[in-house]
Amino acid sequence: MADRKVRVRFAPSPTGALHIGGVRTALYNYLFARQHGGELVFRIEDTDSHRFVPGAEEYILESFKWLGIQFDEGVSFGGEHGPYRQSERRDIYKQYVQQLLDNDKAYIAFDTPEELEAKRAEIQNFQYDAYTRMQMRNSLTLSKEEVDKLIADGKQYTVRFKIEPGQEIHVNDMIRGDVKVMSDILDDKVLYKSADELPTYHLANIVDDHLMEISHVIRGEEWLPSAPLHVLLYKAFGWEDTMPRFAHLPLLLKPEGKGKLSKRDGEVSSGYRESGYFPEAVVNFLALLGWNPGTEQEIFSLDELVKAFDISRCSKAGAKFDFKKGIWFNHEYILMKSDDEIANLFAPIVANNGVEETLDRVKQVVHMMKDRVNFVYELWPLCSFFFIAPTEYDAKTAKKRWKEYSAQQMTELADVLEGIEDFSIEGQEPVVMKWVEDKGYKLGDVMNAFRLTLVGEGKGP
Ligand code: GLU
Repeated sequence: MADRKVRVRFAPSPTGALHIGGVRTALYNYLFARQHGGELVFRIEDTDSHRFVPGAEEYILESFKWLGIQFDEGVSFGGEHGPYRQSERRDIYKQYVQQLLDNDKAYIAFDTPEELEAKRAEIQNFQYDAYTRMQMRNSLTLSKEEVDKLIADGKQYTVRFKIEPGQEIHVNDMIRGDVKVMSDILDDKVLYKSADELPTYHLANIVDDHLMEISHVIRGEEWLPSAPLHVLLYKAFGWEDTMPRFAHLPLLLKPEGKGKLSKRDGEVSSGYRESGYFPEAVVNFLALLGWNPGTEQEIFSLDELVKAFDISRCSKAGAKFDFKKGIWFNHEYILMKSDDEIANLFAPIVANNGVEETLDRVKQVVHMMKDRVNFVYELWPLCSFFFIAPTEYDAKTAKKRWKEYSAQQMTELADVLEGIEDFSIEGQEPVVMKWVEDKGYKLGDVMNAFRLTLVGEGKGP
């Protein structure tokens, strides 16, 4: 077990947009795989057909491509453990469900939804388990003939995991240590439904992790309650020796710190890519949501993260999703990127605003202004006056700064400027200063009116 090859997986259910928590899970799996020279598998868990959203798979793949998180194996990547879409593995699961039935680790239950509902009404906190299963309609209470007949008659059934009470279950978690649970609190989970001939998440997940030789299961904290059941399933199959090690990542909490982050708060599409974030900034930001390097360092490239990441340094407590921090990261990446790179992103925006301008000049503007923005798209409203004359003048500034003689002064200044050959700062400044002095103007009056004329408001570089 010690020198087992590291193989991890990201196994989303294609139920729509990729949630930011899911991206973090994938990122941590990626970092873990890379730093151990291991492999990252992309598996689609689509056994719940009701929740299937068309296009979700493509969208997820596209998002990871953008982020620079690469998979080694799986849906769209191929590999020797396929198919990697659970809906294409029905026959495999059937075989393993049968194995559990044959070994008396599972049983067939015929209870209809109505019957279950009635039981819940009758018994408070009803749970289908060792204490109640003998009151239900299943292969433990019915004769073999009855069971066979019901199946032959086409009655729908489920296969339930037969959990024996009184067992102490240990989940060995790399972040949380030894998590101990008594089997009595678990219910006989449904593993398979005849209605759609598909296993439930739990069975498919365990069978696939086993067959795909997954060594470590790194996933969100919301799956921690399922882990004891998963441990029991490994045992029931006789796979204890190759059971993966677990790591349940801390919850992502709302920006205010109270409650779980909602889907809306954390959608990648509306929140990040289209909002103008750099993928590097998103990766950097997410890496530190629940993990810290133990130093003051905050800026990490993906390669640096691979080296620095340490799963045992992940926190158990939830991580506050601080939106502002994400913006701060993007700002830092704007500063780190070269003027050339930012200019190349800004130039199309300039062109879209109907301005023909050389890349060199766009770069000059970027150089002067990039430290004032968090996103590239914020440059245009801030810098448009470099490219087009203002069409509006800030009324408050105009009232304060535009005197009855300002128009006259500006007309003169235009002439002065036009006469200057050397248009560098060193070339302009003495000439303009001399004009101001000769005329006996107030420098403040001239400068303020001049800024208003060029920028349209009272501030500017
Ligand atoms: N399909 C589950 C999900 O959507 C996978 C959970 C796991 O990693 O075991 O997150």
